[in-house]
Amino acid sequence: MTRNERPFCSLPPATYTQRKHQKNLRIRVTGNGITVSGPARCTHKEMRDFYWKKADWIKKAWQNQQEKEKKRRLLIEKNRGTLLIRGIRKRIIEQVQTDGKKSLIDELDEYVVLYHNPKEKEGKEAAVNTFYLKAALKELPVHLARNSKLLSVSPGKLSIRNQKTRWGSCSRKGNISLNWRLIKCPVWIVNYIIIHELVHLRHFNHSRAFWQEVTQCFPETDKARKWIRQHEAEVFTEDGL
Ligand SMILES: [Zn+2]
Repeated sequence: MTRNERPFCSLPPATYTQRKHQKNLRIRVTGNGITVSGPARCTHKEMRDFYWKKADWIKKAWQNQQEKEKKRRLLIEKNRGTLLIRGIRKRIIEQVQTDGKKSLIDELDEYVVLYHNPKEKEGKEAAVNTFYLKAALKELPVHLARNSKLLSVSPGKLSIRNQKTRWGSCSRKGNISLNWRLIKCPVWIVNYIIIHELVHLRHFNHSRAFWQEVTQCFPETDKARKWIRQHEAEVFTEDGL
């Protein structure tokens, strides 16, 4: 069910939906728009009233979203034509792939060469994704093994994942997930994230004891957390070609 209702003309129209398994009314504000959802028994009027009750909050959340989106676009523009790898921005030099092979990236010390096959529609993007994933699959397990040895712990399975907001996680079974984007960070940050997850094998929480142990194993924890706050948006923003 969709209707154009907006308390402020700067807001996009809201979408109203009923969801079978949802228990409460909920509002989601994303870069794409505003969604009000409620349980199946919820009437359209109830959802609309809820929307108006929360109008001030919605306006603020929408403005924050727009601000974030603006920053994201500026970042893409600023870093266009480069790739971030192990904490270093390398310039992309493009060359046409003449032998009909798939587009690919070759990494050199100072820059990367993107051999682009013009017949491929999304060739450049695919080459960038493959480049990052290959590096992550090759290097992150090595960092995990080294840090596990250092801490004398044996984690379970490692999965390298495409989490949209998280850097890594540790399951109750002791399996570790790491975001492939860690390959964009300097090695000392990769070490911090891995040590953080490995300490979760001993403390499955963020208690004082947990942080004490993390800091003991990784004395530059405060510095690393500051780095993450400052660079998070950059690492999670796709590189513009
Ligand atoms: Zn944690």
